[in-house]
Amino acid sequence: MMQVLPIQSCATTKEFLSSGKLIVLTGPSGVGKGTLMRSLLQRHPELYYSVSATTRSPRPGEINGENYYFISRNKFEQLVAEGEFLEWAEFAGNYYGTPRENVLNQVQSGKLVVLEIELEGARQIRASFPETLSIFILPPSFEELEKRIRGRGQDSEEAIARRLQRAKAEIQAANEFNIQIVNDDLETALQAIEVALFG
Ligand code: ADP
Ligand code: 5GP
Repeated sequence: MMQVLPIQSCATTKEFLSSGKLIVLTGPSGVGKGTLMRSLLQRHPELYYSVSATTRSPRPGEINGENYYFISRNKFEQLVAEGEFLEWAEFAGNYYGTPRENVLNQVQSGKLVVLEIELEGARQIRASFPETLSIFILPPSFEELEKRIRGRGQDSEEAIARRLQRAKAEIQAANEFNIQIVNDDLETALQAIEVALFG
């Protein structure tokens, strides 16, 4: 189940995106999206990273308000009902959603706004904002992806199995995205993202 609400404050999505730009970064869990995002934000502090809300429990070291807004299922469902999410989806047994207002304000104030979200959410964003630049991060191989998820050492066996199953479906959808980047060597992948964003 997913819901996307119409933009209320803009006449057209074109008008909306003529000020700033919306970028969607998607790829299977463990491919290195978070790692790439962290480096990208360090190098380009002018980028606005949208912090999502989730019902997942924090992993060791994760900070509320920085990595995610960690909220209960009840609270999440209440926010959905109130139309507070630009998109939301269920992933591996938990809800994830992009807070609507901040993202719209930042884009309208001329910022490059990056959403690091899974496939279903990316599809909704692309449907609502066709001019979104969409980037899919691929692993060098499925074996390497599994190694990275396990190497991260922060997911249970059950969570790993769910994520690997979902990864297969996500990778098959890579061609829907404007750009596909293989995260083999981190620096090479980073530079490819920089070229996509800044030319
Ligand atoms: P995601 O956010 O896509 O779930 P993470 O950024 O948490 O993935 O990365 C998963 C694991 O893979 C981490 O342990 C990270 O250090 C490692 N990793 C990320 N990019 C690379 C890379 N290019 N080469 C080797 N390991 C990587
Ligand atoms: P993780 O639990 O590993 O942090 O994230 C699981 C998946 O949820 C990742 O693919 C991540 O990109 C995605 N995700 C994070 N925030 C959001 C969000 O706001 N919306 C959607 N649709 N997916 C998200």
